[in-house]
Amino acid sequence: PDPHTRYRNQSTQSARLAERAREVLPGGDTRSVTYHRPYPTFFTEASGAQVTTADGEELLDFLNNYTQSVLGHAPGPVVEAACDRLERGNDVAAPNEDIVELAERLVERVRSVERVRFTNSGTEATMNAIRAAMAWTDRDRVLKVRGGYHGTHDTVEVAVGHEGVTAGIPSSVEQRVDAVRFNDVEALKERFERSGDEYACFILEPIAGVAGMIPATEAYLEAARDLTEATETVLIFDEVMSFRLAPGGAQERYGIEPDLTAFGKLIGGGLPVGAFGGRVDLMEQFDPETGVLNHSGTFNGNPATMAAGVALLDHFGADRIKTVNERGDRLRDRLESVGETADVPIRITGDGSLFQIHFTDERVTDLKNSTAGDPPSEQLFLRLRNEGVLIAPRGMGNLSTALDQRDLDTFVDTFATAVEAIGD
Ligand code: PLP
Repeated sequence: PDPHTRYRNQSTQSARLAERAREVLPGGDTRSVTYHRPYPTFFTEASGAQVTTADGEELLDFLNNYTQSVLGHAPGPVVEAACDRLERGNDVAAPNEDIVELAERLVERVRSVERVRFTNSGTEATMNAIRAAMAWTDRDRVLKVRGGYHGTHDTVEVAVGHEGVTAGIPSSVEQRVDAVRFNDVEALKERFERSGDEYACFILEPIAGVAGMIPATEAYLEAARDLTEATETVLIFDEVMSFRLAPGGAQERYGIEPDLTAFGKLIGGGLPVGAFGGRVDLMEQFDPETGVLNHSGTFNGNPATMAAGVALLDHFGADRIKTVNERGDRLRDRLESVGETADVPIRITGDGSLFQIHFTDERVTDLKNSTAGDPPSEQLFLRLRNEGVLIAPRGMGNLSTALDQRDLDTFVDTFATAVEAIGD
């Protein structure tokens, strides 16, 4: 077998669990993104920056559930808040103060957000934001970015990957979604000149995550704002990943305000969550008295999730965000230097606490020149994994506040050894 696609020790508890799982779960997993060859590592526990595997190995977590665990695993105040809520009864078909508390925090932090609704995933958040835009504009076409990932509902699964896989998506949906190249201002202008008055919304991530953790340029975000405003198209920022970059999200860091924003990941403190919010006139469409839109869900605003989210945001304020972003900035510089020293073409993309490693000497600006998913990324992932460091198989990583300076040094050293081996 190819030494780059195997674990150092193949006959493990994880291997046995993976085999058992395949009997009941397609591929032995229930989340496509966490599947990788030869089989995913099963974990048993996680605390701070450490993940314990089914074989008792300790992995240093630079993946943090795909950017979610900003405080590391099982942060005391968050766990306490969720448990307290569970003990006091969690499952009632009525609102409670916790939803108000979390909504107030989002409205306080994010200037463009005047009203909020909660969902159980980022997928539902973008789905409902798009629905709000369609109802408001009375248009049914959607513009997105090629490689933009907004979850797994039909509309946003169009033009996600290199191959544009759309099996299972109705062709009628495909036909009403257009995709533009990320960070290409001219292409965006042309697109809006041609059909700007047909789009209900333009949805994009301020930093394209799955496409390669690539920040939008200032010019691109400005063009997106101007063009949508001129055509009365709703501008939706998907901040499911990027919200961690500033107290008010990437929109604060980059200085552009959308009409609607989708949230997820960290705002539930590690429990399933999503939210969407924005301009009061768009959001009031969900008011049962006066609005036209229905939005229900048995677990919308689940109290334990809300309480965990409040505790998390209260422990992830401006100071901690600044610290973790500065650590990320330094780490990306150090990783670039490793490539230079080893004479291996490496580009590190990202911003603040988010990063991705690309094995290329080209500047990475969009999906086309991103190397996410290429064989060297997979090799890197397994080599790091074999040395006890966890990142995403596509080469993406991110920091939590639980990772200290020593952990970052460990990462750089382990990375350097892996890069030398890959370069040979
Ligand atoms: N939007 C972005 C930018 C994401 O990164 C993700 C998940 O990774 C989603 C939406 C979907 O969120 P969820 O996995 O909670 O459905």
